[in-house]
Amino acid sequence: MTTTVTTAPFLAGAGRVERRSHTYPEPGPGQLLVRPRANALCGSDHGLFRDGSPVVAGHEAAGTVVAAGPATATPVGTRGVIYLMAYCGRCRSCRAGATNLCLDKAGDMGFNRDGGLGPLEVVEERMFFPIGDDLPFPLATMLLDVMGTSGAALNRALSVRPGIGSLLITGAGPVGVGVLAVARLTLGPDVPIHVSDVSEWRLSFAESLGGIPVHAGSIGDVPEVDAAVDASGRATARRSALDGLAKGGVLVCVGHGEDLRLDVSPDLIATGRAVLGSEYFPYADFPVNLEVLRRNAGYLGRIVTHTFDVSETALAFETFLSGESGKVVVTQEDG
Ligand SMILES: [Zn+2]
Ligand SMILES: [Zn+2]
Repeated sequence: MTTTVTTAPFLAGAGRVERRSHTYPEPGPGQLLVRPRANALCGSDHGLFRDGSPVVAGHEAAGTVVAAGPATATPVGTRGVIYLMAYCGRCRSCRAGATNLCLDKAGDMGFNRDGGLGPLEVVEERMFFPIGDDLPFPLATMLLDVMGTSGAALNRALSVRPGIGSLLITGAGPVGVGVLAVARLTLGPDVPIHVSDVSEWRLSFAESLGGIPVHAGSIGDVPEVDAAVDASGRATARRSALDGLAKGGVLVCVGHGEDLRLDVSPDLIATGRAVLGSEYFPYADFPVNLEVLRRNAGYLGRIVTHTFDVSETALAFETFLSGESGKVVVTQEDG
């Protein structure tokens, strides 16, 4: 195995995708060279599509190991998914299992290291999670932000409020829909899960997955809930979600974006409420989520509404950004 010269799709800004000559190094000690076969698009890719990216974009990739560097144990041919963060594995956060809060990460795939829309990815072996031979690659990408990030946000809420009896999710984009799906599977069929958004399409999509649709302007009409997850990043949605919490309730903010102003006495102290943040998910969440995905492949697979070949990457983004899609996955043939 030597350095590979090939072409890769680059987001060139203003919605253009350009195929450029590109060189991938051979995997170094502890690294794997992975051939991405599916990469799900994400709201956090939007800025790259608009403004361009110096590295190959894509951070929700599933693929196959095609070469392994020295001091690795993963066989060539192993199928798996790639964790976003090149976490160090040694810092205080990593040693506590919070790889998503690594204090010394080497980079983020698709943001400052070549990501999953390209023909190859060089990753640290510790970032690669084997998935076995049964899961289709597009479905396997659900292990990343849809199940991983959403599941971690729900776990944060459950850490404060075990036995959540009612839930409000603000924002029915991919992360919000992921929270809905994971919460439906975790909390059972009878717990009401209200989902708010401004988009009719997204509200009916959320309803089809078992949510109770709420127009964003009507959050105040939702009965008090034990927990809320904000996946919208909007200050107004966060405020409405907090106002709708029962005493002892918890709001988890998982969508980056605007602020939230707190009046500490009424908002937190007198009401015993908590506001938490949740960023991505610990690597150690993968095995449990893989089992959940295997058992619920039909339900979770409905979150992928579109797949496009990598040659149609621009169209894939346009479809995703139209606001009338669930997850949009870009696929690549083996070869
Ligand atoms: Zn993502
Ligand atoms: Zn670390």
